[in-house]
Amino acid sequence: MDKNVRICIIGGGPAGLSAGMYLEKKGYENYTILERLDRVGGKCWSPTYNDRRYEMGAIMGVPSYYAVHDVEEFCGITHDGPKLNRNYKNAKGDVIEPFEPKKNILKIPRLLKMKKQIKKLGEILETKYKGYDLNGHRGVAEGRYDGFAVTPGREPVKGTNPNLKDLALPFSEWCKLNGVELTQDVWIGPYTSFGYGYFDEIPAAYVLKYLDFQTCMNFVKINLWTWKNGTQYIWEQLNDHLKNPARLNSHIEKVERKDGKVYVTVNGNVEEYDKIIVTAPLYIPNKRTDGQIGMVDYFDTRDDERELFSKIDYERYDVLAVETKPEDHPEISYYVFDNMVPEKLGHLMVYYRRWRDTKDQVITTYALRKHKNQKEVPYETCRQMVLDDLKTMHNPATKVVNEWSVYYFPHVFSEDYAAGWYDKVEAMQDKYNTFYAGEIMAFGDMDETAEYSRELVERFF
Ligand SMILES: Cc1cc2nc3c(=O)[nH]c(=O)nc-3n(C[C@H](O)[C@H](O)[C@H](O)COP(=O)(O)OP(=O)(O)OC[C@H]3O[C@@H](n4cnc5c(N)ncnc54)[C@H](O)[C@@H]3O)c2cc1C
Repeated sequence: MDKNVRICIIGGGPAGLSAGMYLEKKGYENYTILERLDRVGGKCWSPTYNDRRYEMGAIMGVPSYYAVHDVEEFCGITHDGPKLNRNYKNAKGDVIEPFEPKKNILKIPRLLKMKKQIKKLGEILETKYKGYDLNGHRGVAEGRYDGFAVTPGREPVKGTNPNLKDLALPFSEWCKLNGVELTQDVWIGPYTSFGYGYFDEIPAAYVLKYLDFQTCMNFVKINLWTWKNGTQYIWEQLNDHLKNPARLNSHIEKVERKDGKVYVTVNGNVEEYDKIIVTAPLYIPNKRTDGQIGMVDYFDTRDDERELFSKIDYERYDVLAVETKPEDHPEISYYVFDNMVPEKLGHLMVYYRRWRDTKDQVITTYALRKHKNQKEVPYETCRQMVLDDLKTMHNPATKVVNEWSVYYFPHVFSEDYAAGWYDKVEAMQDKYNTFYAGEIMAFGDMDETAEYSRELVERFF
């Protein structure tokens, strides 16, 4: 493509800013990033409390976050944050050690079986499901893999593997099919409590591409990255190092694609581009109080775009940042497995203590309030349930300092996944001088979105 091509990027989150970085690295400098808010980072939002930054959005990474590492190198920063730690409680608020055989004598046979199944899972992922962990979903529904190896060098890889079609199944069914049901006891911690939905509704492809075997083991061993100034700092730094930093407070009223050009009406002015990359939500099925809308609502949306994007759903994932009395401050972060099942929708699943050295900090809480087959728990109800749960956990809150119900983890369900949703959307890349990127195209974490942008630039520019 001509290096002077004028590219508009919608969204100044990890996907949009990374797209800018990778374009720039390849010699494309004529790009403009439009961000609707007065800050960059998107779901990496790290506000300040008593001079230290805490996390309302993304918290951690793993050593295989190669795209995030590219960003760190580009900016000369590193993951210098507090070491993570955790413990477990049951729904009654008692501290438990579910994986410690000595504390669970009666559960020893189950724990041994689980260990065996984890080993088996590792083996089948390498053999039967070869190619499962590539970024994005190209070819999966047709039994192919096509992309770049998950290695620092990211060599191109391609192949046929009909077993990959199984990944369209909900994760719980996929586990059953492969005789590894008990592995869900381990995968659920960094999956459901991190807001990515329940195993009986979410296709295995999402679960396993994010929590590939190595990544899940890094969670188990707490081999994780954090950033002292918050994950938002990564993207602020990237923005500062780009030749064309994001234009904040950009209100896009309209996007029209005609005569081979893209016309973007932003803050009352019409701007002309050759290509547009959308990293903002493509479709939002309901009206949101934060004013966030999907691309189909401000683009001259074509029938194929509308038809495909209307299949996208997302999670209702709520975060509260609360103060506690010093004597009620949790010693550590806690996971509450009892609350990670659909029957406990809206309850506290995990709460996070960021700094070990002080009680003068906020604690952040996390709850999901939607399941495919259940009535959504209203925001206020869920908020109250979480505050009540904190009392049950013996860590009552005195004040809510910040709260966020964010547009989270856009995805499609098994039927659409199996019907080739991803291959249809991939076939539309550049069809209307438009590229689709961001969370829906890979997975809702910092690295998968940044990596998707890298590969998009590699494939098309
Ligand atoms: C509570 C929480 C915890 C998380 N934990 C982790 C974690 O530990 N590790 C991890 O890797 N990931 C985590 N994530 C997920 C991670 O933050 C996201 O997957 C990642 O930020 C997605 O990047 P993105 O650029 O695709 O989307 P976003 O971060 O959502 O960025 C999209 C950007 O587009 C902007 N935008 C939207 N509409 C428009 C418009 N019309 N015009 C212009 N701009 C627009 C938005 O304002 C936003 O800045 C977490 C997220 C949350 C909320």
